[in-house]
Amino acid sequence: MSYSQEVLADLKARYPYQPEFLQAVEEVLNTLQPLFEKDGKYQQNRILERITEPDRSFAFRVEWIDDQGKVQVNRAFRFQFNDAIGPYKGGLRLHPSVNPSILKFLGFEQIFKNSLCGLPIGGAKGGSDFDPKGKSDAEIMRFCQAFMTQLYRYIGATVDVPAGDIGVGGREIGYLYGAYKRLTTKYEGVLTGKGLTWGGSLARTEATGYGVVYFADEMLKARGKSLKGLRCAVSGAGNVAIYCCEKLQQYGAKPVTVSDSRGSILDENGINVEVLKQVKEVERASLTRYKELVPSAKYVPVSEYPQGQHFVWTVPVDAAFPCATQNEVSAADAETLVKNGCFCVSEGANMPSEIAAINTFLKAGIAYGPAKAANAGGVATSQLEMEQNAGMTAWTFEEVDAKLHNIMINIHRNAAETAKEFGCEGNLVLGANIAGFRKVADAMIAQGVI
Ligand code: NDP
Repeated sequence: MSYSQEVLADLKARYPYQPEFLQAVEEVLNTLQPLFEKDGKYQQNRILERITEPDRSFAFRVEWIDDQGKVQVNRAFRFQFNDAIGPYKGGLRLHPSVNPSILKFLGFEQIFKNSLCGLPIGGAKGGSDFDPKGKSDAEIMRFCQAFMTQLYRYIGATVDVPAGDIGVGGREIGYLYGAYKRLTTKYEGVLTGKGLTWGGSLARTEATGYGVVYFADEMLKARGKSLKGLRCAVSGAGNVAIYCCEKLQQYGAKPVTVSDSRGSILDENGINVEVLKQVKEVERASLTRYKELVPSAKYVPVSEYPQGQHFVWTVPVDAAFPCATQNEVSAADAETLVKNGCFCVSEGANMPSEIAAINTFLKAGIAYGPAKAANAGGVATSQLEMEQNAGMTAWTFEEVDAKLHNIMINIHRNAAETAKEFGCEGNLVLGANIAGFRKVADAMIAQGVI
């Protein structure tokens, strides 16, 4: 049994009830063996056994009062996974599905993503099973304040810097930041995704979606192709999906789908980004509202999706951008995409493709950008926000966007060159995993057994 397989078998026996975490670990470990064969130091220092356990984690209860005066209770967590190359950094997710398995998968992935983007940040993730949907602003505020009365003990501008994720946007970051200041009397860059007048960075809102498209552009360029004129499928209708659609249009591509948890839109004229922003950012409504505003679009509710498939991946396209959530691209979806001629997949969501789907893309030899490389623009720009906060300065949109673009070019180059170094040209999964892992593992070895 190889070193990777041994560690994976041990984790499977130890955490049988954490399927998402095991899936994320398996995806990484599947690709690292060539590195271990080249250099024995990683096994000798038991890096895999160490890097798959968080440095530390916190679980706490959040109690708050709803608009009816009833006491509500939620469970919350923060996993500080690895700080070998910088302070912990990673988002907060508010969604009823949140549990330790999902947060550990996200925290584990975050280590390598952050390493890959070339900036000095470690990996972490946190969140709560609180469901922001249907809650009033006042309820969201009371929840965020109660959440922060626990979280503030564990975070800090050079300790652990949370950001947004599913269910956490500018509004939530505002309430969290207000509560942090009140509790600590510190005005510091402890959260990213802040508002522009109180320490936020221009282009942070757009960064993840834009970065996913910059990454796709690099993958296509390496194959002598471009995004211009491509027909694209995008899933999700949140922060990442909206700005992915916007940047695709700027590149002359045509996104024709978006989706939320209740259904999908197919708009043959190309997604109307202004309408999408109005529906999701202003009205916080379902995509049925998009259909009301753009009657020529088609709305397909989840109940009408083909068995075992997501509607958006059944639409024939040249390129696909999963931007909603984990495991939203099944093996069957991947096969349908490839069969319909899709030759580029760039992942905005974290771990959107099941392992069998990834294997389908790799086998087909299409341009496949795994999440930890393709969506790293979000966290990279968060780090740029930290940099601006630390220097008490603010850069222009153009400056931040140019830095983001450059970071995405470098991530692609790093992943592509590493894949080549290990004899797997074009396999950006292997390239991204080895490049991200090697830097963190070397730092861990240099810092000793702590
Ligand atoms: P948002 O909350 O803004 O949007 C999420 C979108 O995905 C919504 O349209 C939501 O629909 C849909 N969605 C969420 N869960 C499900 C589900 N279980 N089934 C179907 N649809 C679902 O989140 P973001 O856009 O910020 O995040 C999307 C993905 O991108 C996540 O995987 C996140 O981890 C990843 N990511 C985000 C970054 C960021 O900077 N925001 C950075 C890097 C990665 P509905 O509203 O109906 O729930």
